[in-house]
Amino acid sequence: MSSNIQIPKICQHCNEGFIAKTTVTKFCSLHCARKAYKANKRHSKIIAAQENEYQKSSGIDLNIIQAKEYLSIKETCILLGISRMSLHRYIKKKLIKPSNLGGRIIIQRKIIDNLLK
Ligand SMILES: [Zn+2]
Repeated sequence: MSSNIQIPKICQHCNEGFIAKTTVTKFCSLHCARKAYKANKRHSKIIAAQENEYQKSSGIDLNIIQAKEYLSIKETCILLGISRMSLHRYIKKKLIKPSNLGGRIIIQRKIIDNLLK
């Protein structure tokens, strides 16, 4: 899409000012766009690697947790990335309503999902 509009913008990669010809342009040049794309790719790879590392250390697969309907205290902590103490605080504040299954505390995933909306 080409147009005659000119919008002064700051390149999201090199922070230099430039004149954009569309409202969605984020970079001053193809060079910057490519660099930013690569940096972004690298970033997601690092995040993925960190998550992987986390799963290994905790022995729990995040993907499995995300597919579950009911979660244990431990799984809820991992999913939310919070400590057991924080989780108990949320329960006390009634932000999270736990269910009791035969003396075992479980938390409905739905509740966590709603919490994050
Ligand atoms: Zn640039």
